[in-house]
Amino acid sequence: MDLLEYQGKQLFARFGLPVSEGAPAGTAAEARAVAEQLGGPVVVKAQVLVGGRGKAGGIKLAADPAEAEQHAAAILGMDIRGHTVRQLWIERASDIASEYYFSITFDRGAKQPLLMLTTEGGVEIETVAEQSPEKLARLHVDPLMGLQPFHVRRLCFAAGIPAAEAKQVGAIIEGAYRAFIETDAMLVEINPLIVTPDGVVRALDSKYTVDDNALYRHPDIAGMRDAESGDPQERLARERGVNFVKLDGGDIGTLANGAGLAMSTLDVVAAAGEATGHRPANFLDVGGGADAEAIATAMEVLLSDPNVRAVLFNVFGGITRGDEVAHGILTALERLDATLPIVVRLDGTNAEEGRRILADAAPPNLHVEATMLGAAARVVELVEGSAA
Ligand code: GDP
Ligand code: MN
Repeated sequence: MDLLEYQGKQLFARFGLPVSEGAPAGTAAEARAVAEQLGGPVVVKAQVLVGGRGKAGGIKLAADPAEAEQHAAAILGMDIRGHTVRQLWIERASDIASEYYFSITFDRGAKQPLLMLTTEGGVEIETVAEQSPEKLARLHVDPLMGLQPFHVRRLCFAAGIPAAEAKQVGAIIEGAYRAFIETDAMLVEINPLIVTPDGVVRALDSKYTVDDNALYRHPDIAGMRDAESGDPQERLARERGVNFVKLDGGDIGTLANGAGLAMSTLDVVAAAGEATGHRPANFLDVGGGADAEAIATAMEVLLSDPNVRAVLFNVFGGITRGDEVAHGILTALERLDATLPIVVRLDGTNAEEGRRILADAAPPNLHVEATMLGAAARVVELVEGSAA
């Protein structure tokens, strides 16, 4: 789960990291009130789950409350790379002498947290990694040993942090590491980590991702989830408990049981559709032992994407029985009044019975295929046909 900047900063503050004083605002009038309360210049910041807000015009300095109100009115409702701005964070403006970058990610390959620090902050870290990799200090921490003082000294030295700031930067690294471990985070990123002209180091931005599988241990963080934000289809999937990932630019909905089969399904659809430009629209795993109700629910999530023009069901019956799947498909078609082409490949436990149930009902938009490759080819053919 990704947190908004101000939510990440709330966690930063909890772990003793220095952040600017501020408050959220949902309207221009609220933004003005916050600016009045803070006094002096403020920054009006769009709260969306996407980076590069500054470049997109979602971050503006305001000299006084009237200007804060104007900027807020302009930024609210703005579209930033597909995300509509519904919330703002107003904070006391900072004077900036330098911009650093610090992050902790989980390096799955190394099975260890990876710390990265550079004095070349404020820009995208990929650019630094590409153009001046020697300026990006990287250090793995053995999670059993934990972060030790020598790690912090080594990282600051390698990044070339000036001695005058090393103590503050060191304390920020320690606080961020504690936050990372104690909140089960997958990412904690501060870009920029600024130094003010009078030598104060402070986190000016936050990017914070908490492991979804650990949210049950952090009800307060789980409660930060903004029901309004994010992709509406992914939100529906989450509400319905469906294991779903939307893919960009696809027009073929896919459903399979088991994550492995679901991924193979994406591969065969992508291969079959390559020549004609058709692609899978999503990953969806209905899980083992899915019953008719679960299939109908999954189908509802699939069909909520207006770009989906055909659906491929790829089910291998193990614990999931073919007859249950067949009933699920028929229930879903009936309930959702779905008329778009649906290709079903059903194999494994009770597959024959399942195929017979489908054949008996025989809705005109239902196509049963014997193999996975055949089903992929068929679904591509059907979308291609529906375009004409
Ligand atoms: P991002 O573009 O989504 O990464 O948003 P950031 O919060 O990192 O802000 C982008 C840039 O806006 C920063 O790198 C700063 O240069 C600038 N900025 C943000 N807050 C302040 C501030 O308080 N004072 C000044 N002078 N610049 C700021
Ligand atoms: Mn930033």
